[in-house]
Amino acid sequence: MKRTVYLWNLMIRDSTNSGLFTRTLDLYSCMLRTGLHGNDFTFPLVLKACSNTNSLSDATKVHSHTFLLGFQAHVFVQTALLDMYSKCHHLPSSRKVFDEMPVRTVVSWNSIISAYCRSFLFHEATLLLREMRLLGLDLSSITFLSFLSTHPILLRQGLSIHCCVFKLGLLNTYDHIPLANAVMSMYIRYGQVHEARAILDSMHEISVVSWSTIIGGYVDTGNVDKAFSMFNIMRTISTINSDFVVFINLIKGCAKQGSLMAASLLHSLIFKCGCENKDPLDNLLLGMYAKCGDLISARKVFDMALVKTVFLWTSIIGGYTHMGYPAEALLLFKKLLKTAIKPNGATLATILSACADLGSLDMGKEIEEYILSNGFQSDRQVQTSLIHMFSKCGSIDKAISVFERISDKDLAAWSSMINGYAIHGMAEEALGLFHKMLEIKEIKPDAVVFTSILLACSHVGLVEDGLTFFKSMQKDFGIVPSVEHYMCLVDLLGRAGQFELALKTIRVMPVKLQAQVWAPFLSACTKHCNLELGELAARKLLYMNPGSHGNYVLMANLYTSMGKWKEAAVTRSLMIDRGLVKAPGWSQVEINGSVHVFIAGDRSHTQSIDIYKKLEEINLKLAEAGYVPETDTVIHDLEREEKEEALKVHSERLAIAFGLISTEAGSTLRIMKNHRTCVDCHSALKFISKITGRHLIVRDGSRFHHFESGTCTCKDFW
Ligand SMILES: [Zn+2]
Ligand SMILES: [Zn+2]
Repeated sequence: MKRTVYLWNLMIRDSTNSGLFTRTLDLYSCMLRTGLHGNDFTFPLVLKACSNTNSLSDATKVHSHTFLLGFQAHVFVQTALLDMYSKCHHLPSSRKVFDEMPVRTVVSWNSIISAYCRSFLFHEATLLLREMRLLGLDLSSITFLSFLSTHPILLRQGLSIHCCVFKLGLLNTYDHIPLANAVMSMYIRYGQVHEARAILDSMHEISVVSWSTIIGGYVDTGNVDKAFSMFNIMRTISTINSDFVVFINLIKGCAKQGSLMAASLLHSLIFKCGCENKDPLDNLLLGMYAKCGDLISARKVFDMALVKTVFLWTSIIGGYTHMGYPAEALLLFKKLLKTAIKPNGATLATILSACADLGSLDMGKEIEEYILSNGFQSDRQVQTSLIHMFSKCGSIDKAISVFERISDKDLAAWSSMINGYAIHGMAEEALGLFHKMLEIKEIKPDAVVFTSILLACSHVGLVEDGLTFFKSMQKDFGIVPSVEHYMCLVDLLGRAGQFELALKTIRVMPVKLQAQVWAPFLSACTKHCNLELGELAARKLLYMNPGSHGNYVLMANLYTSMGKWKEAAVTRSLMIDRGLVKAPGWSQVEINGSVHVFIAGDRSHTQSIDIYKKLEEINLKLAEAGYVPETDTVIHDLEREEKEEALKVHSERLAIAFGLISTEAGSTLRIMKNHRTCVDCHSALKFISKITGRHLIVRDGSRFHHFESGTCTCKDFW
């Protein structure tokens, strides 16, 4: 039986409505082969299929059919043609169809205006809009929606559209909601939430999209409390159920504010609404808890998630890393590798940062192998993180080779390498690289790079250079100095004994930043035995931050270094009275992928007997080589001999002794410490490097020391 055009049309309509556009085009060809032609019902459907398959060749064929069949004056078919060309990105053809239309409806006008908006040609679109008004045509909300839903619209254009729709009364019609939401979004994009709020307040019917738009607006502009109060109003006055998007915005708000109370209340509400266990929400909830510092709740969200995506894995690994639990982060990463889910660039960057914090070079190398064999070697974020990891794990050579491998280096890569040189005390290399980077026009240095540069200067005492960079950073690059910049500068000036200049710098700083810079200033006073200024700094520190044990330690050290035992003891007992405990100092060394941690006088290691035997052997050789212990900075109430004993078992010495008995002769030893090395250990380590012929790389709280053949790269300046 031969199908009629009517039957073909029904089939074409069904396939188009089901989104099966290729099938629509096939059906149309079959129909033509039976000798039938399309009619005014067929063509709009077939043209819709053409624009969805982006097939301009099919489209021009259909266009010629409409021409041959005489549909030139048919407004529906012509409008469909116009629309199809614009969606296939062929604006000139759209315009040609529009210009040749003998009859046009508001729909045709809206279509051509949309076509221009889609091509970001707002001026032409505005001209058409004006023409429409002159012709006395009814402007509908759809006309303006085209304008507003396109992103790069300027605020000026947005304002005139708002003005226009207001005058036309379009915000008061029965279908006003989408247009009002679009105007609100436009204002929010430019940070003008109060304008958006005024529109919301004037709406006689508000949809859930309107609510989430305004709540999102408040969150984006940092007004989280307002966002929550809008949420409460929404729940009181409207019968609308909170949806997904509203919650997403509120979770972002909680994360921004870091308020755990609000976070848990919100979580229980989400639970009540049955929105739990949806992937993006889970991930955001986890991130929110991590930002609020509650890792236990974050982990609960992770454990309970029905589907664990790579993003969820990355978030929990990141949570542990950023909160200072790199070992837990690594454990989770190893677990992830056992699942079917593959880590992405962000996961790898996060885990590399955990390796860097942990100082685990072996693990870092393992991850590098994974990166190379899984095709992540050209991922920018991964490359930058590799540089950071290698330099923080004491392997500056590996960091350099990764840096040199990168073909198009961005600011992050340069910055990471410069920082690597800086923490290793390689100021010349850091400055050289910085100047090389400045030669690249596309790269503008930022605040982070300048922190590294100032750090590099401070580690080697380049006072003049440091001051020049500090000035140039503000004058040439418009960077407002942060507390990190000030700390580096004060540290640099203090260490060089330029106390006048250091004080001048502190005095011109914003007051709320001052508390942190007195600490490096006090350290410098201790080094230069300047009791008067040291006491001034100590008083400032204890006044501004009485709860920090580190400040008491600095002060006690100042007194000890000047032989003022009584004052030192008073300071220490003050610290104990206030219940402030100093975090114990530890040193770690990594042997064959496992990390061994030692504290001073530690005898808990399984190879403790051998370690102490080695230590004794070293001590004998040290005495022969002419090493004399410097006992000044050790706790005062010990007798000289006891003091010497105490020094001999400082954690780094135990770690080195263990390293020496566990590795091949001549290999490099890498030690990580949480505190600064004491003067005596620093001197002993220089001797040990000479006696054993080993390269000793030590990372302390702030920098790296490379001990080789009796000298250290810090040139005793740390
Ligand atoms: Zn020591
Ligand atoms: Zn050193």
